[in-house]
Amino acid sequence: MPARPGTTQIGFVGLGIMGAPMALNLIEAGFSLKVYNRTDRPRVQEVVDAGGERVATPAETASGSDVIITNVTDTPDVVEVILGEDGVLRSAREGATVIDMSTISPRVTRDIAAALNERGVHMLDAPVSGGDVGAQQGTLSIMVGGEQSVFDDCLAVFEAMGKNITLVGGNGDGQTCKVANQIIVALTIEAVGEALLFSSKAGADPARVREALMGGFASSRILEVHGERMIKRTFNPGFRIRHQQKDLNNALITGKELGVPLPVTALVQQMIGSLMNAGKAESDHSAIANFIEDMAGTTIAGD
Ligand code: NAP
Repeated sequence: MPARPGTTQIGFVGLGIMGAPMALNLIEAGFSLKVYNRTDRPRVQEVVDAGGERVATPAETASGSDVIITNVTDTPDVVEVILGEDGVLRSAREGATVIDMSTISPRVTRDIAAALNERGVHMLDAPVSGGDVGAQQGTLSIMVGGEQSVFDDCLAVFEAMGKNITLVGGNGDGQTCKVANQIIVALTIEAVGEALLFSSKAGADPARVREALMGGFASSRILEVHGERMIKRTFNPGFRIRHQQKDLNNALITGKELGVPLPVTALVQQMIGSLMNAGKAESDHSAIANFIEDMAGTTIAGD
C-alpha cells in the first residue's frame, strides 16, 4: 500500500547528523515516527519535542510500523540494527519495508535484503547525497535499489526528505551508485584543495579564484561548498573524515572484488589514512586539503 502522511507509521533508527533532520522532515510532512538512538544526544530530544516517540531498541521501532528507516554509520552497524538480537527484523511485520539510508557495502546490502525477503519483509537501499545541509532542507539526492513496486509505495516517504529521487536498479544498486558518488566527491575535494593551495601560494586570493572558477567548466558543488570551507578554515563536520575513509575502503574492496582498478581513489584513501593518524578523523572531509597543505608547508589561507 502506498505510504501516506497521516496513516503510515514509520520506525527510524539512528538520529545522527543526517538522521535527526531527516526524521524531523518526516514528522513535518505528517508521518508518525517511533525513533531509536543508541545514546542520548541533544538532537534526539529535538526529534522527540517535534513529536517523535522514543523507544528503547531498533526492534521496537518496527513494532506496528509500515516502513522502518535505518541511518547508522557502517556495514556492521546496519547488520546489527536490522538483523541483530534487538534488530528491526525481530518485530517487523510481513509486508513492511525496511529502507536503509546509511552508506554501506553493496554486497552486504544484497545479503540483508535476502534475509529480510525470506521473512516477507521488503527492502530498499537508499543512500543519500547532499550532506547535512541537504538533510536539513529536505533536498537530498536519494539513490535507490530495490523493486519498482516497493519504490513506488515509498515515494511519499522519500519526497519528505529529498528532491532528486532515482530508482537505480535492484537491491545493492543504490549503494553502488553511492560508492560512485563518494569516489567523485573525495577526488574532487582533493583536486579543489590542490588548486586553491596552488593559487594561494602563487599570490592570488583563493576566495577570488574560487569565485571566478564558479562560472566555468571547473565549477562544482564541491568547489562551492568545500572550497569555501577550505578558505574559511571551517573543518567541523559536515561529513566526517572517518566516514569518507569508510566509503573509499568500500570502493576499494568492491573494486577488488570486481577486478576494477581505482588508482586515484587508492591514493586519496592513503591521504585520508594519514589524516586519521594525525587526529583528524572527526574533521569535515574538506580537511583532505590539509594533507596537501602539510606537504607544502603552507595553507590555503596563506599561514
Ligand atoms: P553520525 O552523525 O556519526 O551518526 C551516526 C548514527 O549512527 C548515530 O545516530 C549513531 O548512534 C548511530 N550508530 C552507529 N553505529 C550504531 C550501532 N552499531 N547501533 C546503533 N546505532 C548506531 O553520522 P552521519 O553523518 O549522520 O552519517 C550516517 C550515515 O549517513 C553514514 O553511513 C554516512 O556515510 C551517511 N551520509 C552522511 C552524510 C553527511 O554529510 N554527514 C552524507 C551522506 C551520507 P550514536 O548517536 O549512539 O553514536
